[in-house]
Amino acid sequence: MSRFLSARFAALQAYTPGEQPQDMAYTKLNTNESPYPPSPGVFAALSSSEIARLQLYPDPEGKRLRAKLAARYGVSPQNVLLANGSDEILNFAFMAFCDSATPVIFPDISYGFYPVYARLYGLSYKTAPLKEDFTIDPKHYGGNDATVVLANPNAPTGIALSLEQIEAILKANPDHIVLVDEAYVDFGAQSALPLLGRYDNLLIAQTFSKSRSLAGARLGFALASEDVIADLDTIRYSTNPYNLNRLTLLAGEAAVEDAAYYEANAQTIIQTRAYTAAALRELGFALTNSKANFLFASHPALPGGALYRRLKELGVLVRHFGNPRIQNYVRITVGTQGQMDTLLACVRRILTEQ
Ligand SMILES: *Cc1c(COP(=O)(O)O)cnc(C)c1O
Repeated sequence: MSRFLSARFAALQAYTPGEQPQDMAYTKLNTNESPYPPSPGVFAALSSSEIARLQLYPDPEGKRLRAKLAARYGVSPQNVLLANGSDEILNFAFMAFCDSATPVIFPDISYGFYPVYARLYGLSYKTAPLKEDFTIDPKHYGGNDATVVLANPNAPTGIALSLEQIEAILKANPDHIVLVDEAYVDFGAQSALPLLGRYDNLLIAQTFSKSRSLAGARLGFALASEDVIADLDTIRYSTNPYNLNRLTLLAGEAAVEDAAYYEANAQTIIQTRAYTAAALRELGFALTNSKANFLFASHPALPGGALYRRLKELGVLVRHFGNPRIQNYVRITVGTQGQMDTLLACVRRILTEQ
């Protein structure tokens, strides 16, 4: 820390992203990227004539992409906000809807960025424990007089809440925003989208990083009532009106057009998830019922940290978390069938070394 850093950030513990080795030598199953390339339309959209236009600022309203997303999800463009990854939606939401009078509550085991944003804004936050089986207990999310933040499916467990459970949480918080982070919703969970017209406290965050193969383009979006979107837009215009670059906007438009391609990939990933889960169970692993593009697995004879390290030595990167409640688990991104066979071969080898 330099002697210039503001005292209000002195204790800040920043988010630690998953490893992104730049030599590409690993079977990379640690940050839940898609194993499939962007759709053909994205390649076509990023032409040299568009590169030539990079001298011009992008459309700060992202009108074309918002219109396409609105049509795709059956809402109006005023219900859509675009952001530089859904992390930026989270950032705007923590800034807009939490303060000393309105703290924030999220599960004790969830996306590691929630407590980071809470601390960045000096918020007091409360965590509600997941049940023993790692499911969320909706009863914990009422009567807290706080903004509620939930990932559905949750990370890193992959376990999803039903639409009825989400609705119960919305009903229990009529005067507070309920932010549902749907980063993984396209892999088999129910979106809260059907509730949008009836609950003005619902804020949905989605991303193009996981199911739409555009993690490197940085594109996320929020769906909410017009008023909630207007609040977030005030924050956006107060920080960075040009938060999306021209090429990302174009890639996003093409990706929405190519919905069928991404839906087919998501189906393939769901099948590969089932194949890998069955193989890991056969090897003695315990797994949660993941509705995401990752598996959350533990083995009685293999501590999570040791498994993570040995897999890395063998060229397979997975994610391991230090939180004591889940330190015996690893989170494994569902890649291609070939990548999963590589993982399974390494796991078998490690088990014979025990
Ligand atoms: C990956 C992820 C995000 C952020 O994704 P972006 O790349 O910023 O769009 C948000 N929430 C959860 C739960 C995630 O796993």
